[in-house]
Amino acid sequence: MSEFVVLGDEAVALGAIHGGVSSCYGYPGTPSTEIMEYLLDYSKEKGGPFASWSSNEKTALEEALGTSFAGKRAIVTMKHVGLNVAADAFMNGALLDIRGGLVIVVADDPGMHSSQNEQDTRYYADFARVPLLEPVNQQQAYDMTREAFDLSEKMGVPILLRLVTRLSHSRAAIQSSPIREENALNKADNKQDWMLLPANARRRWDSLLGRQKDMIAYSENSSVNALVMNEANRERGVITTGLGYNYYMENRGELTDNPSHLHIGVYPVPEEKIRKLAAHVKELVILEEGYPYVERLIAGLLPRDLKITGKMQNIVPLQGELTPDNVRPALGLPVRDSSVVSSMDLPGRPPQLCAGCPHDDTYRVIKEVQAELEESTVTSDIGCYALGALPPLSVPETIICMGASITAAKGSSETGLKNVMAVIGDSTFLHSGMTGLVDCVSSGTDVTIIIVDNETTAMTGGQTTILPSSRLEQVVTGIMGDGEHVITIPAHRKSHEENKVILRKELAYKGVSVIIAVRECIETARKAKKKGS
Ligand code: SF4
Repeated sequence: MSEFVVLGDEAVALGAIHGGVSSCYGYPGTPSTEIMEYLLDYSKEKGGPFASWSSNEKTALEEALGTSFAGKRAIVTMKHVGLNVAADAFMNGALLDIRGGLVIVVADDPGMHSSQNEQDTRYYADFARVPLLEPVNQQQAYDMTREAFDLSEKMGVPILLRLVTRLSHSRAAIQSSPIREENALNKADNKQDWMLLPANARRRWDSLLGRQKDMIAYSENSSVNALVMNEANRERGVITTGLGYNYYMENRGELTDNPSHLHIGVYPVPEEKIRKLAAHVKELVILEEGYPYVERLIAGLLPRDLKITGKMQNIVPLQGELTPDNVRPALGLPVRDSSVVSSMDLPGRPPQLCAGCPHDDTYRVIKEVQAELEESTVTSDIGCYALGALPPLSVPETIICMGASITAAKGSSETGLKNVMAVIGDSTFLHSGMTGLVDCVSSGTDVTIIIVDNETTAMTGGQTTILPSSRLEQVVTGIMGDGEHVITIPAHRKSHEENKVILRKELAYKGVSVIIAVRECIETARKAKKKGS
């Protein structure tokens, strides 16, 4: 047994390595990125396990399913909105006969530190009818990753592991367990269990439903789902999930009534333990990180006269992260005076593009050409360049989800808007922008797509894009059919006037144009230079 000081994300990566993982796939997305970063570094240094970024979360999950089909263990990592992209593979993957353990790690972002929404991955586990494990600290992140592989092979389903930003990005010491060998190659022997033709899918769905009782029994007996009763106190009980546990424990010393406490970290929820606690008390306080998932799910299990204190009454905050302070009112504790912190006179620091960022030059070209036009529309995608929506640039008008700049621009143009431009990064284009371009080409939509190619996935820390920039023009030309309206320009101030001429010309063209504005992110260029020197 050794001790490691690791981030929550790194604890998952180490748990996977020590748990006998053979293949690791993912798409970068804060706060999950460091899991794959660790696995990639480890793999490079030690020669295994296989680790690679994928084009998007769906391809990553499908690749992991291929590993599992071969009988080996696979892990796939993404942020919460990434599971929306992978949802098709995920929902169908739950019906397959999983032999090699498959763990899907999803890092949620309550508080939207770097995300478009706050969605709670626990709903996806319920949706697909598979177990979910939710660690409260780095040690559990390590242990649960290992356990998730075993559970996946025992139950024959993929297992979700849910992290949240605060755990992913905080550091603590963990104790490791002995390293497990990788599985031997052992391809699934019954093809019918891996081919979701309707007759097979119906049989597999029946099988999955049949295994629900095993999953509930597992949850009911898990030591993680610990119920600690105080027979003397029949007034109030507390249920915690995720990091709600830590915030409860931080406050518990101030409670004089010592409530009975159930912590839930393994799903589906342990119904018997919930019933036992609910039957014992008059009030149930529910502290859960994310949506009021448990609160809504267990409503039918609880006595009618039981008072519930939680998110649905807005006593526990419905949005943002829980904190040790904001759960206090639900526990009947006085609100702490946080005036010491709030009185600090810190200057405001709105997010903005780095000084000298190539996207800045491209947006200035767009902004000046826009000023000459009577009407124009600019849609943006997800990446550093989304910061162009803020002052002083304030260019894009929509930011929706990965890949949606091109498709939203298509819809806008087809409904009658003029001079419609979509701004998308190289990595996002390869993630899910390409299919939007295919739609535009198929319909002959009048749209100008500007791929801002900074030769990296900058927003998540500078990961290598899935194809090098040198291939991008070929890919786009292949989709367009010819290269007449595929123009590569330097995203540089010295080319400002020439770039404006090109943009005016392509906006005047009634059809699909793609302008690829290329210049390396100054941050990755700086890091590369530092490494080389
Ligand atoms: S990290 Fe790179 S791409 Fe992102 S804002 Fe800074 S310079 Fe621009």
